[in-house]
Amino acid sequence: MGGENTEASGAIIDSHIHVIPPARTASLVRWIKRAFPEHPSREEITPEEMLAELRACGVVRAFNFVFPLKEEETASLNAFSRDIALRFPMLVPFGSMHVESPRKAEVAEYCLTELGLAGIKIHPYAQRFEVFCREFEPLFETLSRFGRPFVVHTGFDDFYNRTQDLDYLRSILDRYPEMPVVLVHSLFPRFGLALELLRLHPKVYLDMTNVPSSIRLYQRAPELFAGQQDATGLDGEAENFERLLSEWHQRIMFGTDHPVGMGSPEQIFTDLDSFEMTADARSNILYATATRFLHDECGID
Ligand SMILES: [Zn+2]
Repeated sequence: MGGENTEASGAIIDSHIHVIPPARTASLVRWIKRAFPEHPSREEITPEEMLAELRACGVVRAFNFVFPLKEEETASLNAFSRDIALRFPMLVPFGSMHVESPRKAEVAEYCLTELGLAGIKIHPYAQRFEVFCREFEPLFETLSRFGRPFVVHTGFDDFYNRTQDLDYLRSILDRYPEMPVVLVHSLFPRFGLALELLRLHPKVYLDMTNVPSSIRLYQRAPELFAGQQDATGLDGEAENFERLLSEWHQRIMFGTDHPVGMGSPEQIFTDLDSFEMTADARSNILYATATRFLHDECGID
């Protein structure tokens, strides 16, 4: 991972992992192994093992994301998120909800105030619904009122064979300027749009999780991406990606997606380090932006 590098420049905050209940972990690992049969994770991986693997790479803190696949799972997953972070204080717990969750404002408020969760993460592609839509307005209103983050999966359309309403995303950003928004996966590969949204909205952050490894995978094995728009998009977005790394690192975080990222945590950090970056950019992306984000947008020090 550029082991020396990482140690020399200090600790890492991983902005994206999934410590979830064992049955959900097993099915998540089965899913990633269907896409990447060589993937090193095991269905039985425990939270202790996951966190030990991350610590071995220098990770001292990690944002933990749950996502209900059915509405009925929402309450228990949010409670799990709180409980697992009490057991492992290096975790920063986030809540979630489902499109079918009634009273989204109440669920969000309960997560923030009663469970002490840092914000709400939605994974509309894995959860199989649209989140940039009217049904979620009560969530945006609540997060805006509390000034707490809306963390949302964006991009990788071909991988999931889904799309999302990016015009509606723009209108959310226009209408809720007080709500911090983390664009997870940085709209991969629409980095030009990511740049534009960073410029327009001071509370937009990018999570670069899976992006460096995907670019390297595309360069190594373009045939895997044959006929996909994500890949065709990448050819025209290389320059924008470089600009993100060189000009916007104060608003960019990076995570592993462990245990279902693009390889072992060590491989994932190696892939990030294979891109040229200033020491300043690297320390922001791996640590300082997340520290500021936690302080400014989640009230966590
Ligand atoms: Zn993830």
